[in-house]
Amino acid sequence: MPVSLPILLPRLPAQRYSCHGCGNCCRDFTVQLRPEDLDKLEAQEWQRRLGEPVTVTFRERTYLRQRSDGACIFLQEGGRCRIHAEYGLEAKPLACQMFPFSLAPAERGVAVGLNFACQSVLENKGAALSSHVPDIARLAALVPEAAPTGRPPLLTPRLRASDAEAAALVAVLDGWMARAEVPIDVRLEGLAWLAQSLWSARLDRVREERFVELLSTLAMALPDELEHLPTEPPASRHWRLLRQAVHARTEDLRLAEVVRRARWRIVLEQLRTSRRFARGRGTVPSIGDAGPNGATFAAVAQAGAAADGADAEAVADLLTRYVRATILGGRFFGGGYYGWPLAHGVAAIALNASATSWLSRLYAVGAGRGRIELADVQAALGRIDRHSGRAAWLGSAGERWRLTYLVRTDGLRRMARHVPFCVGFAGWR
Ligand code: SF4
Repeated sequence: MPVSLPILLPRLPAQRYSCHGCGNCCRDFTVQLRPEDLDKLEAQEWQRRLGEPVTVTFRERTYLRQRSDGACIFLQEGGRCRIHAEYGLEAKPLACQMFPFSLAPAERGVAVGLNFACQSVLENKGAALSSHVPDIARLAALVPEAAPTGRPPLLTPRLRASDAEAAALVAVLDGWMARAEVPIDVRLEGLAWLAQSLWSARLDRVREERFVELLSTLAMALPDELEHLPTEPPASRHWRLLRQAVHARTEDLRLAEVVRRARWRIVLEQLRTSRRFARGRGTVPSIGDAGPNGATFAAVAQAGAAADGADAEAVADLLTRYVRATILGGRFFGGGYYGWPLAHGVAAIALNASATSWLSRLYAVGAGRGRIELADVQAALGRIDRHSGRAAWLGSAGERWRLTYLVRTDGLRRMARHVPFCVGFAGWR
């Protein structure tokens, strides 16, 4: 008998969502299957009816099979799902029913995150999030790993946070990102600075009230503190790590190729592409279904931020919703993000923001423009957030090493300052 769990929605009344059936999440999106999903698919007898397998296994994980264009094998004309059409919503794999929501165990319930790969979430279209609680509660009861742990998350790799410490950290990060009077790029630089400060602090010496005091001191120092920090641009190694971070976040497992080609060839190709991103010379390799149309790394480095005006305001609104939903939805630590400690997960959000900014420039250049627009940021964020918390390689030791280097060399903050989303923030005070 499934148990009903308290559902903790992010407190973001400005964020809305309803599925508008665009079918984006059924294209070029890997759907990993749980044992219960495999049982359902077998009972529906698809393999016998279609005359071909409907799943594919790669690196010990099983996924829904895709067509050669990356679309799900069950996607029909008009964007409808064949399983849904024939058997109803609850017959679909759990990941398909859940999207764009994600669940993470919280101490007293299930934290609900939102994936910005969904077009309706990006465009903020639809009903209030609270209208989805009954559906989310039904799904949460089917996911044992979403059940409350009863234990607070890790603060650092060796320290467990108390309830008060975890709550204070989330409140401070969210409070800073909610300050709409501060330009979005200043808020993102402040977030990177907070991440670096927390990662480097000896938190074992400042526990409970002193930790809360430290947080409030850091929060009060913003944004003035940023004025006194070094202004030099990121070093060439920082840029290289940023490009590699973009590659890691946009790398798609092409399941049709897994079926067709030898696996070692796929791995070799992934390595070659990763090296091209690291070198940063010549033409940028294509990214999933949205190739950059001959854009060069040099042109991307020259591309500008969004001009002042309605577009820049919409970009700021989108990024604010994204970061706040990620913080409040528990998608940056613990069960919501590869088991990472709170102090490290904040750095991951800051890196995702810079990766989104770089990728927005790539889309702008690919479309023949010299500066980014809202559509570029939407496309880039949709791409960057797609794998977040799901793709195993983003939680790997290599990814942690990349962040450690960026944090220890002030790279995270310098990237936030020097790869801005909007023009005109530099002279803001
Ligand atoms: S991407 Fe979002 S709006 Fe589009 S079909 Fe998927 S859930 Fe619906």
